[in-house]
Amino acid sequence: MEKIRLCERCTKRYSRIPKEEIATTNEKECPACRNIFSKKKEMMQLVEKTVKEYEFDNFLLGCILPDKIIDFETEMIEKYEHEDQRSIKQDINQEIGSEFEKRWKKEVNFTNPEIMIILDYIGNKVKLQIKPVYIYGRYNKYERGLPQTKWPCRKCRGRGCKQCNNTGKQYGETLEELVAVPFVEASQAKNESFHGGGREDIDAVMLGTGRPFVLELIDPKIRKIDLKKLEKVVNEKNKDRVAIHDLEFTEKKKVVDIKAAKHDKTYIALTRCSESITNSDIAKINKIKDMKLEQYTPKRVENRRAKLTRERTVYYVKAERVERDLLKLEIKAETGTYIKEFISSDNGRTKPSITEIIGKPCICEALDVINIEG
Ligand SMILES: [Zn+2]
Ligand SMILES: [Zn+2]
Repeated sequence: MEKIRLCERCTKRYSRIPKEEIATTNEKECPACRNIFSKKKEMMQLVEKTVKEYEFDNFLLGCILPDKIIDFETEMIEKYEHEDQRSIKQDINQEIGSEFEKRWKKEVNFTNPEIMIILDYIGNKVKLQIKPVYIYGRYNKYERGLPQTKWPCRKCRGRGCKQCNNTGKQYGETLEELVAVPFVEASQAKNESFHGGGREDIDAVMLGTGRPFVLELIDPKIRKIDLKKLEKVVNEKNKDRVAIHDLEFTEKKKVVDIKAAKHDKTYIALTRCSESITNSDIAKINKIKDMKLEQYTPKRVENRRAKLTRERTVYYVKAERVERDLLKLEIKAETGTYIKEFISSDNGRTKPSITEIIGKPCICEALDVINIEG
């Protein structure tokens, strides 16, 4: 029977192949490693050059090896039925990883590394996967007409045209950029993504305790940014427009959490009535307690939302007359309630509605969120 040629290093790795079946050879002629360990120094220099500009506390190594090395290993595992055979990748990652641990005084992190370093032995290069930095916080929006995030231009769908001044945007500034830009600059991130726990209407303000959000900084070079300082920068620069607070570093999971959270909200709605408002109208409105609504997808969002009937609860409404035909309504409602439609009835798509309850057509002129629970 022909013996298996292996170098001393690979013989150690294949410790369960019977010794008499192995013919020792040098690394250059070893089919298991193909002398790949001789590239160690070169690869390590490449890594140091590549990660130099990134700040991180922990890392993980991975590697991409030529097919011939992988094929040999697969063949050996099948032949000797050693499913638990230690792989050459493990050997490389461990050998280089432990040296970096010592040299950098940084830890290997197997579950959630800040930086994943891939040694590509086929392309002779190093690739990095940088974990984004996630920052949780809450925001207030004081300016009407400011969208939360970028909306692509309706005419060109974001490509840029005459109508949008080649910006690709339907609206000018967004809350997202007012908040995110200082963080992107401080972290030297490539990009960012703004995750809101829901969004208010573009013309609504967001008061009280604010709306939760997670700012994701993509490919950041600096991770230890000063949140307190950046909060101050954003708040001073955008006084009377936007404010952020309660900032803390968080993990990706938080994005899912704030998206899924069911936060009941309290609104102030300035409501114009087509006729004079009577005391009896106000009494009828103030009687609303834990009222179930059926809301068919509103006309104004029917292009973006599935057409169906949703059931929502309005917990209470407090009405106050401001002018002869103007009401100030404080409304607490379940998450996802369409408030404007609850007021107007949206041509009967929402039932019941303020319009239906007092028998006089009403419309919401201004809508503010004053509190989000949780
Ligand atoms: Zn070998
Ligand atoms: Zn456009």
